Amino acid sequence: MAKQPMLKFVTVGRDMPEKRDAGLRNQDFDEIYAEFARAKAEEQASRCSQCGVPYCQSHCPLHNNIPDWLNLTATGRLEEAYQVSQATNTFPEICGRICPQDRLCEGNCVIEQSGHGTVTIGSVEKYITDTAWENGWVKPITPSVERDQSVGIIGAGPGGLAAADVLRRAGVQVTVYDRYDRAGGLLTYGIPGFKLEKDVVMRRIAQLEQSGVEFVLNCTVGEDISFDAIRGKHDAVMIATGVYKTRDLQGPGAGSDGIVRAIDYLTASNRVNFGDTVEEYESGELNAKGKKVVVIGGGDTAMDCVRTAIRQGATSVKCLYRRDRANMPGSQREVQNAEEEGVEFVWLAAPKGFAGDPVSGVMVQKMRLGAPDASGRQSPEVIEGADYVEEADLVVKALGFEPEDIPALWDTPELEVTRWGTIKAAFTSGATSLEGVYAVGDIVRGASLVVWAIKDGRDSAEAILTYLEGAKEIAAE
Ligand SMILES: Cc1cc2nc3c(=O)[nH]c(=O)nc-3n(C[C@H](O)[C@H](O)[C@H](O)COP(=O)(O)OP(=O)(O)OC[C@H]3O[C@@H](n4cnc5c(N)ncnc54)[C@H](O)[C@@H]3O)c2cc1C
Ligand code: SF4
Repeated sequence: MAKQPMLKFVTVGRDMPEKRDAGLRNQDFDEIYAEFARAKAEEQASRCSQCGVPYCQSHCPLHNNIPDWLNLTATGRLEEAYQVSQATNTFPEICGRICPQDRLCEGNCVIEQSGHGTVTIGSVEKYITDTAWENGWVKPITPSVERDQSVGIIGAGPGGLAAADVLRRAGVQVTVYDRYDRAGGLLTYGIPGFKLEKDVVMRRIAQLEQSGVEFVLNCTVGEDISFDAIRGKHDAVMIATGVYKTRDLQGPGAGSDGIVRAIDYLTASNRVNFGDTVEEYESGELNAKGKKVVVIGGGDTAMDCVRTAIRQGATSVKCLYRRDRANMPGSQREVQNAEEEGVEFVWLAAPKGFAGDPVSGVMVQKMRLGAPDASGRQSPEVIEGADYVEEADLVVKALGFEPEDIPALWDTPELEVTRWGTIKAAFTSGATSLEGVYAVGDIVRGASLVVWAIKDGRDSAEAILTYLEGAKEIAAE
């Protein structure tokens, strides 16, 4: 039997006529679009064979009850599908958009493995929750009892927000501190809007605010308020600060103008899309328009940078990676998306230095893959005499992120960290070496995924509830 093509849906412009092409009025378009999206969701959901060995579910970090919500969607029971889906996932519409499904649920779909193309689980998850929002099924949290205990959460990314949701449902008073002016962490300022629309993130923040979560923004813990002061104000504290220290490039010219950090480049682009005036974007420092752009790195951050540069109107965009395509850490789906958009990948190429200041080129060493290292991965080796210069007037460093030195920044040497600088936290509960202090997400795992941060936040919030119960009992004795 021929391999069935994978059906992606809700892709206006490819599957659906554009409104302007069809000469449709807004209302007609919205109705046709809604009907189309529903039909596609039902079609995909009905492809699930209800196989009885749901590897999709066991490979979803949240163990979402995928077969059940697919079945409910296939039979048109969308509100029930939403209830099942949101029972295990705080932000299903976000995961539906940005989980690397090819490595998680969809990659383990039995239909995919039998060669017939996966059920597009993420798209159905997104559809169910977007529909729930449109129909008013997503409501602010109204706890049945209010408790007088409070939790301070440092970091308003997905880990902190997922915990805030669980704690508020239990009636705990929650304050979230963040150094940025908007909540959401990397959902807001890291991941580009073409992958995750910002109104989707902002409506979740608004829902949490309406649920009684207090946000203290523009507040850097360790500068504007001390960690000890936060501990003194709350009955428990959660650290969900993510990882932001950029791995750097060495070599001659590495400090030249025109060589920028991925996080700065993506944050500026996201701010501009929010309508903010960003000086470094206006000046061209963090703007790829009309430039030859070279992005260095092979992970998902690099993919976001190259695709952003294309959208900003770069004249050429190249991605340098020191291993080959099969060995790159980023999602193959993202590489394919980038290639379709006009990005050129230069495999087995590593930067040795930079020409010009401001930068005019990257001095490239060609590599080959040698013997496997201790982890079994082939190490790149330099091919002598094959160096060349890749022209560039904007170079973006996207080599990954490491944790900041939290114990030093917060003057808390007793907070234990691993040799990689991530916070040492107990498996599942997130309990740290400090009593009543928990940690979740990237600051514990190292750079990871949104779905894992959500999972950590939810699990640790449950552990905090148990801790608060214990503290109440001790106080009552
Ligand atoms: C460019 C990029 C693209 C990505 N794309 C994807 C993707 O497509 N899919 C996916 O699953 N994952 C993706 N990830 C990874 C994902 O975004 C992270 O794993 C996830 O956001 C981690 O959540 P978190 O809550 O631990 O931290 P974060 O989202 O990083 O949030 C941490 C928050 O803590 C705040 N903070 C830090 N220090 C302080 C302080 N001292 N005081 C106050 N506040 C502080 C920060 O301002 C931030 O808001 C991407 C990451 C990057 C960088
Ligand atoms: S949360 Fe992510 S891994 Fe889990 S079902 Fe949704 S898209 Fe798949």
